[in-house]
Amino acid sequence: MESHLELLIKLQQIDTLILRKQLLINEIPLKITNAELPLKEEESALIKLKQKREAIEKKRRDKERELDDLNEKLKKLKARTSEIKTNKEYQAHLKEIESTEKELYRLEDEILIIMEEIETFSQDMKLAEEKIKSLKNKVDAIKEKIEKEISELQKELVSLKEKRGKIVESLNMETYNLYMSLMESRGGLAVAEVKEEVCQGCNMNIPPQLYVEIKKNEEIIQCPQCHRILYYKGTT
Ligand SMILES: [Zn+2]
Repeated sequence: MESHLELLIKLQQIDTLILRKQLLINEIPLKITNAELPLKEEESALIKLKQKREAIEKKRRDKERELDDLNEKLKKLKARTSEIKTNKEYQAHLKEIESTEKELYRLEDEILIIMEEIETFSQDMKLAEEKIKSLKNKVDAIKEKIEKEISELQKELVSLKEKRGKIVESLNMETYNLYMSLMESRGGLAVAEVKEEVCQGCNMNIPPQLYVEIKKNEEIIQCPQCHRILYYKGTT
C-alpha cells in the first residue's frame, strides 16, 4: 500500500495537470475573440464602404435630376427661338442657351467623375468581400481546431478526475483537508519538493535536522515557512 505522502505527491501531480488544462480551457474564449478580430475589422470596413457608396449614389441621383432639369430648360429655350423678334433679344437668348449648355457639360463631367468614384468603391467592396470570405474560412478552421482541443481537454479532465477520486478515497479526511486548504491558500501547490535543502514552494532553507526527516519520505512534514507538505525526490 502507498503511504499518505506518496498519495499526496500523486494527487498534487494530478491537480497540477487539472489546473493547467482548466487554464487552457479558460483561455479559449479569448483565443476565439483574437482569431475573429481581423474578420470583425474587415466587416466594419465593408460597412463603411457601403455607406460611402450609398452617399455618393445619392449624390449621383441628385446630379442626374439636375441634369434632367437643365435638359428640359434647354429644350424650352430652343423651342422659343422662333418666337424671338429683335436682334437684341436674340443675342440675349443665344447667350442663355450657351450658358445653359455650359452648365450642362459641367454637370455631365461631374456625373462622370462620380461614376468613376462609384466604380472604385464597388471594386474596393468586392475586394473587402473576398477578404471577408477568406477570413471567415480561416476563423472556421481555427474554431474547428479549438473545438477538437476542447473535447480532447475535457476527455483528459474526466480521466484525471477519475484518477483523483481513487487517490482521495485512500486518504483520510484530515490529510485531505490539510491538502485542500493548502491548495487554496498556496496557489495550487500544496506538496512541494525539497531540493538541496531548499523548499521549492517558498525557497526557504530547511533546517538540517528537518531535512534528514524529510529525506526519509515517511511522514507528512510541512515547511516551517509556507506550511506546504514536503518530500524529497533525490539527486537524480
Ligand atoms: Zn516552504
